[in-house]
Amino acid sequence: MHGAGGAWWRVAGRELLGLVLPIACAGCGADDVPWCDGCAQGLARPAWRVEGRAARLDRMDGRPPVAVWAVADFAGPVRRAVSAWKDHGRADMTAALGASARRATRALVDEAGESLLGPGPVLVVPAPSTPAARRRRGWDPAGELAAAVADELTRRGCPARRAPVLRRTAGADQAGLSARARSRNLSGHVHVRRWPSALPGRAVLVDDVLTTGATFAACVRALEASGIAVVAGVVVASTPSPGSGAGSPGPTF
Ligand SMILES: [Zn+2]
Repeated sequence: MHGAGGAWWRVAGRELLGLVLPIACAGCGADDVPWCDGCAQGLARPAWRVEGRAARLDRMDGRPPVAVWAVADFAGPVRRAVSAWKDHGRADMTAALGASARRATRALVDEAGESLLGPGPVLVVPAPSTPAARRRRGWDPAGELAAAVADELTRRGCPARRAPVLRRTAGADQAGLSARARSRNLSGHVHVRRWPSALPGRAVLVDDVLTTGATFAACVRALEASGIAVVAGVVVASTPSPGSGAGSPGPTF
């Protein structure tokens, strides 16, 4: 009797909750689960380096692009979940996406941890949103990921602190622009803010997604112009190269 009663209450409770706040998977819309096991597979792959996919990350001065780690292709359910998280009220996805950023961070430490060590903590810098996006959202998605990355770096023996030192001052939203137009749109619009204390000379740049690399490149240029070396990047997802999944382990779904 007890068990049946408990089950009844669980079902009633879930349905009541569903009436108040319908629960659906942020990736596929499946009912009654915020993030289903199938969609979670999209964030379960081993972290890998994705800078080779982002043509606009090239530094133009012969130095190799900043190494960037990711755990997912920006496609399918992962793409929908990131969009739902940033712009459609699914703040509950912070946990899953933050865990993904932590996993990419562990791969960074395993491969390049010594480059993070030095005098003072390494700065973990979120890529800044446009002023319009900042106002619309009222919160900072990349800043949430940067907090997770800074915490994970520190846990793994690389003292770090989140430092939202970059600011985007103008320029249209990047969505819908070509790669070339994105670069034009961004040049001169990313700046290092005035900061209350002296900044250590090393930074890890963090964003949710690496697409063409134009945003990342503008951030790298702004930090380096202020004497801050960008030693690595961490993102959750990266846009697959056109026509291939080159560099990514295993198929997407
Ligand atoms: Zn799903």
